[in-house]
Amino acid sequence: MQVPVRLQVRGYRLQGILMILEVRAVAPFYKNGFVVGCDRTREAIVIDPGDEAEQLIDAARRHSLNVKYILLTHAHVDHITGVGPAKSAFDAPVYLHRDDLPFYEHAVEQGQMFGLTVRQPPPVDVFYDESPIRFGDYEVLVHHTPGHCPGGVCLDVTDTPHLFVGDTLFAGSIGRTDLPGGNYEVLMRSITQVLFALGDDAIVHPGHGPDTTIHNERTRNPFVLEYLASKP
Ligand SMILES: [Zn+2]
Ligand SMILES: [Zn+2]
Repeated sequence: MQVPVRLQVRGYRLQGILMILEVRAVAPFYKNGFVVGCDRTREAIVIDPGDEAEQLIDAARRHSLNVKYILLTHAHVDHITGVGPAKSAFDAPVYLHRDDLPFYEHAVEQGQMFGLTVRQPPPVDVFYDESPIRFGDYEVLVHHTPGHCPGGVCLDVTDTPHLFVGDTLFAGSIGRTDLPGGNYEVLMRSITQVLFALGDDAIVHPGHGPDTTIHNERTRNPFVLEYLASKP
């Protein structure tokens, strides 16, 4: 799927510039893995490679993309089982928020909780800091959005409306907060203060299920409405 985006360059709005966006999800988790590429330079990123990693690798090859970074929204096992194959295929550094390192280092044990045999993924190469991550004509801004887990981040691809939120926010739902390190109040602050500040037009790509927009979730998400109503 090629998604037309409007790229803002020095105040001019250029129509028809294409950002390449591929999403795949497979059993058992149906967790979304993404390839995001720059049509002009063929540079790309892979987000959260899981059990669908081979499909993401195929998609990147089909578009002749040079994957520069493997970016993780968090380190729950469904989001990292494909890091090994992705790293072998692309020889790209793996990025994670430092606060999720304990999950990452216990990938095998996380798998056992689901009765799954999981191989320990290769080590994290870089912990996110404030710096944007550049690929082709785009920059990824990394927003720390804890609550579902301590090191959850949302990846904001500028200057496009595309926002990859991991398991923080879903179409009509929110991330679970009953896993270790989860916190409902912290999650709701991440959603309403960090994500909503990015604007109604942002297209939200959750870690599971269909896309949505900030506008949809701000105005219709029952969990968000209940939280906001509870605030003075
Ligand atoms: Zn998760
Ligand atoms: Zn997940």
